Amino acid sequence: MARIVMKFGGTSVGDVERIKNVAQRVRREVEAGHEIAVVVSAMSGTTNQLVKWCSDVSRLYDAREYDVVVASGEQVTVGLLAMALQDIGINARSWLGWQIPFGTDGIHGKARIGKIETAELEKRFAQGQVAVVAGFQGIGPDDRITTLGRGGSDTSAVALAAALKADRCDIYTDVDGVYTTNPRIVSRARKIERITYEEMLELASQGAKVLEPRSVAMAMQHGVRVQVLSTFVDKPGTLVVDEDEIVEQQVVTGIAYSPDEAKITLVGVPDRPGVAGAIFGSLSDSAVNVDMIVQNVSQDGKTTDLTFTVGQADLDRATHVLDRLKAELSFGEVVADPNVCKISVVGVGMRSQPGVAKTMFQTLAEKGINIQVISTSEIKVSVLIGADYTELAVRALHTAYGLDADAEA
Ligand code: ADP
Ligand code: ASP
Ligand code: MG
Repeated sequence: MARIVMKFGGTSVGDVERIKNVAQRVRREVEAGHEIAVVVSAMSGTTNQLVKWCSDVSRLYDAREYDVVVASGEQVTVGLLAMALQDIGINARSWLGWQIPFGTDGIHGKARIGKIETAELEKRFAQGQVAVVAGFQGIGPDDRITTLGRGGSDTSAVALAAALKADRCDIYTDVDGVYTTNPRIVSRARKIERITYEEMLELASQGAKVLEPRSVAMAMQHGVRVQVLSTFVDKPGTLVVDEDEIVEQQVVTGIAYSPDEAKITLVGVPDRPGVAGAIFGSLSDSAVNVDMIVQNVSQDGKTTDLTFTVGQADLDRATHVLDRLKAELSFGEVVADPNVCKISVVGVGMRSQPGVAKTMFQTLAEKGINIQVISTSEIKVSVLIGADYTELAVRALHTAYGLDADAEA
């Protein structure tokens, strides 16, 4: 007997027939004798609609009320799935975040999970009951409903698996595993059998939305065995594992892209100590996350240009802050460009293998794609390019690193 957390995403519970299909999947595991907690998302499209309603009502909405609204999608699906399970003779009960409870901090809209109470679920498992748990939501220190940020049901599932000391956390979705890149834009993308936590974390953080980044960080921290697999096709998926469980290491394991970036250039920034600190300090005080940064050496010893990227969602706030700083720090223009995309190649093998960046730059040059900003970490090289070139760049790099499904492995 194993204890398993099964998580089903929005498409998997997208309509009543699909919810019944999920119930059958759960039944198979129950009949195999396992203890099961199921975490579900809202039906696909629902959360987008709820978010839109919030911004239609109020541009600067109250984050507490936003959470009340957007958490409602998962309330529908837990109730329906519990009913569907009962209908096929499975003892099941639904649980909202506050009922478990999933304790979180008070950052509404992007809350972090703290403590999860498992005593009641343990009791129900002993009675043979399946727990159907709402993903994405929790309860804050003020006893109000919180949500974890978009895609947060993955994190709910991994956190619950850690708290329940589950043997496995199976993330069921609309693809049959983690691919070398998004299979929806590169048809020759290849399914990865095993990927390290570290690589998965980089890919997820750089835009591969198949797993939410925090869920991977949490799985890594607590050693939760995560598998990504299809709700619709019955075959093994991708296992996220420790590095020593991988026999053959690729130099580049996968490619991610993030179209949600924006580039900001500050023209004529005074070249003296303290200026960068003042600029990035003010952005950070306004909760703007800065990612890639380049600063040129000043030609005249007096001023230089400073370029960096922020999330598109933060662009208005960032330019507002920078416009206010312009006079104080006496720099010239603030030039914003949302029409960019960040492409990242990821692989633990690049720690020991040189030449990964060179291949990236040459491949993009051959396609006539200009690189605007570059950043690297131990297992990743990222470049910022014009958004129109995204698919061309990802496909060309996929081929250049030998990742195409029909290439020699
Ligand atoms: P769910 O609703 O089940 O949480 P998501 O839409 O959040 O599903 O994530 C699954 C999607 O992630 C896939 O449909 C696919 O388009 C996208 N995706 C992006 N990068 C990858 C990748 N490297 N491997 C697999 N899927 C990816
Ligand atoms: N329903 C939420 C969202 O769409 C959470 C999730 O699906 O993971 O972001
Ligand atoms: Mg998701």
